[in-house]
Amino acid sequence: MEYIEARTILMKTKTREWFGTDYTMNVYKGCHHGCVYCDSRSECYQIDQFDQVRGKTSASQLLNQELQSKRQKGVVGAGSMSDPYNYFERQELLTRQSLELFNHHGFGVSLATKSELVTRDIDLFQALKIHSPVAISLSFCTVDEQLGQKLERYVSPPSKRLSALEKLSAAGIYTGVMLMPVLPYLTDSWPIVESVIKSAYERGARYVYPLFGMTLRDRQRDYYFAFLKKYYPEKLRLYKKVYDNQYYCQSPNHQKLEQRMKELCDKLNVSMTMSSIIRDYQEPYQVEQGQLF
Ligand code: SF4
Repeated sequence: MEYIEARTILMKTKTREWFGTDYTMNVYKGCHHGCVYCDSRSECYQIDQFDQVRGKTSASQLLNQELQSKRQKGVVGAGSMSDPYNYFERQELLTRQSLELFNHHGFGVSLATKSELVTRDIDLFQALKIHSPVAISLSFCTVDEQLGQKLERYVSPPSKRLSALEKLSAAGIYTGVMLMPVLPYLTDSWPIVESVIKSAYERGARYVYPLFGMTLRDRQRDYYFAFLKKYYPEKLRLYKKVYDNQYYCQSPNHQKLEQRMKELCDKLNVSMTMSSIIRDYQEPYQVEQGQLF
């Protein structure tokens, strides 16, 4: 794996809206998981050769200095721009070393992945949750193995991700599912959404957070449209007709799906709103003043 220079690893978040995170971290650049809908390919993120994973030189040393210098501790988000458990992480251990540093410096973590490798670090999640909030999300857009293979070519298949979810949950880690994106005209039917929720619930998921639509812009659109052209040419015509050059493409079924999902999640006692997820995993760490840590 190639390494590139980095000046910083941690970025302060503008708001705490996304899983209540105070910082974000990316120790890798690029992602080779090949999800056909991936937003991180977009030009605005300026990641050339997105499918090639590069590690950041001296990531651990940099991160150690940055964590040490923070007056305010908090929760670090990982997995927004690239999967922290890519193929190279097995040997390179940049994500694992970061978790060790969070533990050493008293920070929490909210991490999203599509890889079963996440279960390797259960020991560290358990150590972290003694002092700080920990939420581990597995991302899905379907639990159908064949469709999953088409949409997310190089990630752990849905069955392995569900098994990872089960192991995390059994180990006492607050874990759940990011049901996103729900792809218009492809995965936006109730049987597909329902099967993700029920499969997740059966394995101990505490939340299923949905996005009933997808973003589409520049390189991301080209990549996704090439996929549609190959496998679903009739859907490609539909996308062009319905969405034209629109940035956010909402599922035409979003209202019905949301309503049915709410009914099911209420019944199963599974959270589906960001405010309830943040409350559930962070509230136990709040001090009298109503502030974290
Ligand atoms: S795992 Fe995430 S970052 Fe990687 S290609 Fe898939 S959606 Fe993009």
